[in-house]
Amino acid sequence: MIEFITEYGIDGLPDYGDTILLQGWDQYFEEVSRILLDATVYSSREILSESNREPSDYFLNQVAKENFQIANEESAALLGLHWDRISGLASGGLAVTWGLSQTLLDQIEKAVIQAEEEGWSKSQVEQEITNLSGFGADRAKQLSQNALSFVDGKSSRRVASMTGATEKFSETVGDDHVCAECEENEADGWIPINEQFSGSGTEDTPHHPNCRCSVSYRWQEAAVTAV
Ligand SMILES: [Zn+2]
Repeated sequence: MIEFITEYGIDGLPDYGDTILLQGWDQYFEEVSRILLDATVYSSREILSESNREPSDYFLNQVAKENFQIANEESAALLGLHWDRISGLASGGLAVTWGLSQTLLDQIEKAVIQAEEEGWSKSQVEQEITNLSGFGADRAKQLSQNALSFVDGKSSRRVASMTGATEKFSETVGDDHVCAECEENEADGWIPINEQFSGSGTEDTPHHPNCRCSVSYRWQEAAVTAV
């Protein structure tokens, strides 16, 4: 991006953003899917052991299929792609806009002018643009963390439901930073597994970005049953 601005100024930046989107993100699709799939496998194992059921190979195969779908859908959503569950292919849906608002363009232009006047180094310019655009490491970390929580929450409920769990309960960490919505979710107590929690209107954790709540599930009978 820096080379582009140095050469062409900021006028062509929105087109440049589109070009990156059109060329680029789908190459990360499979890699991201794999990472998310690993997270679902981990949470599925936990739920299966909690469920006290003895899963057949057929059942485990069904769980794997569900998780594959959840991971692919979230990977596509994260990268602004569309995942087709029939063909199994991800394509450029451009569901996300690149977020280059006029305000941001003005800010970048100002930074570039200031950089020229004051003779900033390339890494200084890069740092400034990263700060302005909000696409720095922190943002990336937050996005990936939320994607992992999201597939974890979704897959947990799916597997819990498949093993016969009927109710769920959302628990906060109980400190001073818990938000009102999550408090209300907790106050719901045990609710039917596919209903929304009343505070946030969500069905799974994370209830919001950086949510620290966890959801427990309850099965009707405790006996070991084959599924
Ligand atoms: Zn929360």
